[in-house]
Amino acid sequence: MPDSKVTINAQTQVYGIFGSPVRHSLSPLIHNSLFSELKINAVYEAFEVEKEKLGLAFEAVRALGIRGVNVTIPHKEAAMNFVDEVPEDVDRCVGALNTVVNRNGKLFGYNTDGKGFLTALREELSFNPEGKTVLVLGAGGAARGVAFSAAHAHAERIFIYNRTHDRAVGLGGYLEEYFPEIEIEVLENLEALKKEKIDLVVNATSCGMHASDPSPIDLHLLSAKANVYDLIYAPAETPFLKLAKKCGLPCANGLGMLAAQAAVSFELWTGKREGVRERMLEVLKACRF
Ligand code: NAP
Repeated sequence: MPDSKVTINAQTQVYGIFGSPVRHSLSPLIHNSLFSELKINAVYEAFEVEKEKLGLAFEAVRALGIRGVNVTIPHKEAAMNFVDEVPEDVDRCVGALNTVVNRNGKLFGYNTDGKGFLTALREELSFNPEGKTVLVLGAGGAARGVAFSAAHAHAERIFIYNRTHDRAVGLGGYLEEYFPEIEIEVLENLEALKKEKIDLVVNATSCGMHASDPSPIDLHLLSAKANVYDLIYAPAETPFLKLAKKCGLPCANGLGMLAAQAAVSFELWTGKREGVRERMLEVLKACRF
């Protein structure tokens, strides 16, 4: 929430997030905190937008001069249809957006998840995917972003495993099309990993969000010491991360990615970068969710 030092007035610029459900989102908290701390006259709201109303919501962005929005589940892919331009190649390949910038009535779409993921790997695990072997668990929107950013960062090999095999095959084929130089392998079962050296395992599934969920992989299967990243941040320690710690593997949860992707959006909207990611991460760590 903006603090009392910031007055909402006729000059206040409006930002927000479109999603459904969206009321649990932490984005209003982190963006409003930074607007307030940096004394930017702006406010960030959560807008519950149903699938069939996404077009109307983007019309409202144009009509009302809303300066920027984040887009979350289930609208990340559909949002591609409502912007005027997607400037970055990698975002067009991923085929999903999470950030829209309104520049004088023209809407520009970006996906900051991939950059956020790579920043979190660098900051929290000192890991760079270049030349490395990466295992992506999942084949949904987040897995797609993770796999494309690992490929874009020149991973040498990418393994994909998903509960629904056909979705993994779809993602693997799509990646091969864009990155023919990278070895992409879609796994039918995880046993096949016993003879592989994996440098990074990423949980990009929703498995771990509920108390009864198991780890999506038995990390004992891995022959060598891998880094472990879980996109889930609530709970802070999933069974996957508990197992990683038990196995003595370097690991981190998704909070760093959440802060880093938000900081890239914030920079696109305001031009402010210095210290923003670090401050957003502090705000997130201080809040109970
Ligand atoms: P999504 O598109 O709905 O995809 C969900 C994925 O999880 C699918 O691959 C699904 O497999 C798999 N899955 C779901 N339940 C499972 C289970 N019990 N066992 C094994 N696999 C299971 O969701 P998403 O947008 O990709 O998000 C995935 C996760 O990433 C969520 O937890 C989300 O909160 C998190 N996320 C975090 C950040 C961050 O900044 N830290 C950013 C984006 C997303 P099937 O194909 O078989 O259904």
